[in-house]
Amino acid sequence: MTDVLLLHGGVGSDSTINPKLDGFASEAFNGDSLDSAVMAVSLMEDDESFNAGTGSVMRIDGSIQMDASVMVPGKFGAVISIERVRNPIIVAREVMEKSPHVIIAGDGATRFARMMGHQDYDPSTEKARMRLQKVLEELKGHPSDEERSRLFMLSISREAHDTVGAVARIGGMFAAAVSTGGSSPMMRGRVGDCPIPGSGIFAGENGAVVATGIGEEIIRRHLCFSIYSRIGKEPLQKIMDEEISKFGAIAVGAIAVSRDEFAHSANKDMATGFHLR
Ligand code: ASP
Repeated sequence: MTDVLLLHGGVGSDSTINPKLDGFASEAFNGDSLDSAVMAVSLMEDDESFNAGTGSVMRIDGSIQMDASVMVPGKFGAVISIERVRNPIIVAREVMEKSPHVIIAGDGATRFARMMGHQDYDPSTEKARMRLQKVLEELKGHPSDEERSRLFMLSISREAHDTVGAVARIGGMFAAAVSTGGSSPMMRGRVGDCPIPGSGIFAGENGAVVATGIGEEIIRRHLCFSIYSRIGKEPLQKIMDEEISKFGAIAVGAIAVSRDEFAHSANKDMATGFHLR
């Protein structure tokens, strides 16, 4: 059985960057499946062209709150709405391995990160500021928070872009890792699919899956467990294409590894990269 590390750069990302993701996959292919998946995601968090870590999108109040999670069979760790850290994925791994909890949220997540030695870090970028500006322009004429929120709730042009994820099968062991700044526009405190096991991430004895796209829809359909629960019954590519097609025009994608296969599927362009050994 070949070892494999497979990455995605988010549904809506441009597949012309596949060679860059292949490079990240080969650089991150070090150690076991969890080490490799976490390393791959942290490389993408550090690249500001992705919506994770540095480069994360801003909420409508201008804040940046990030979600990240890791999973191996029987173990899970996540941070929700963490702020001012460089690598949420490393904190998620620390939640799994060094805390008695599985999920830590909000200021508790940021405090936990500081306890683990993560320095205060500003992940904002010019690109994120310009994107927020565009959202605020769309909301112009609705100046109160209440009105903005109402308009936002009714909305509109939800976009999901450039979230990052990785799945690995190394030495027969599976791992999954995913990190995001969220979708846009988005209220402070909104939580997407990435830190919800079975929705944006799943890993078990038969494989590992991570998703990208409009998190609310992915949560409603627990996409990753829907894919995982069919593994072994049909070809992986067929399972993934069928599960993704259920979302119609709602932007969604996923990557997965099973004992003998690996595959990706998305209903829009989605950058991917991989490394085999
Ligand atoms: N799934 C992410 C979220 O809804 C966004 C994305 O994949 O781009 O938070």
